[in-house]
Amino acid sequence: MKFVVLGAGIAGLSVAHALRKRSYEPLVIASGHCATANGAGIVSSQFWQSDLYAHAIRSQEIISELVTANRCGMVQIALNGADAQLLSLIPDGALDLPKALSKQFCSKFRSRIIASHFAENDFWIENMQLLKELSNGCRIKEARPEKIEGSALFCNGERVEFSHLIIATGADPTLIVYSTENGHLDW
Ligand SMILES: Cc1cc2nc3c(=O)[nH]c(=O)nc-3n(C[C@H](O)[C@H](O)[C@H](O)COP(=O)(O)OP(=O)(O)OC[C@H]3O[C@@H](n4cnc5c(N)ncnc54)[C@H](O)[C@@H]3O)c2cc1C
Repeated sequence: MKFVVLGAGIAGLSVAHALRKRSYEPLVIASGHCATANGAGIVSSQFWQSDLYAHAIRSQEIISELVTANRCGMVQIALNGADAQLLSLIPDGALDLPKALSKQFCSKFRSRIIASHFAENDFWIENMQLLKELSNGCRIKEARPEKIEGSALFCNGERVEFSHLIIATGADPTLIVYSTENGHLDW
């Protein structure tokens, strides 16, 4: 199978890394800088959707095997009832604001807080370091694709064949998989 990954942000490089772990040799096509490096680098498990929560916990495990995890804990604060309801759905963690953090807020802001959720195992990482580790050993081609024709992508006039095209260019939805085996697009 020939995997081509479009986009070298956190999404594209994570897919490439996962494919390499399964002994595939994906080709990553990247245009410009990796936008992920703009992120704050927080790796949180605070998701209220149960399927995302399980993936987030797994991501924390994988990422902390690749780069130094600087444990900081992270708190989410709800200032209205709807957000408080979502926070109450997060499977793990405490619903209290850590006292040390609470002391930093002025009383006016503290009085507006309806609920909070603190995950002490959340951490931050160096974004560039993570991207470097994820791309370790990957074939990366700097180009901007011009068109797709059947099972081929054209970049800078060159034809690149694929069986699976993973589009992770930062748009929403961020990850699209196009397979020439069934001709389907999967989100
Ligand atoms: C200020 C800020 C702070 C943030 N902090 C955090 C945080 O702490 N934790 C967290 O989890 N998230 C954070 N985020 C969100 C996070 O940065 C994004 O969710 C993440 O970058 C999305 O990754 P991505 O790979 O989908 O897209 P991107 O990082 O945007 O990567 C897309 C890549 O595709 C390339 N590309 C685009 N078009 C093409 C094309 N036609 N051909 C080839 N390549 C192409 C781009 O050059 C880029 O390299 C933050 C965002 C911002 C703005």
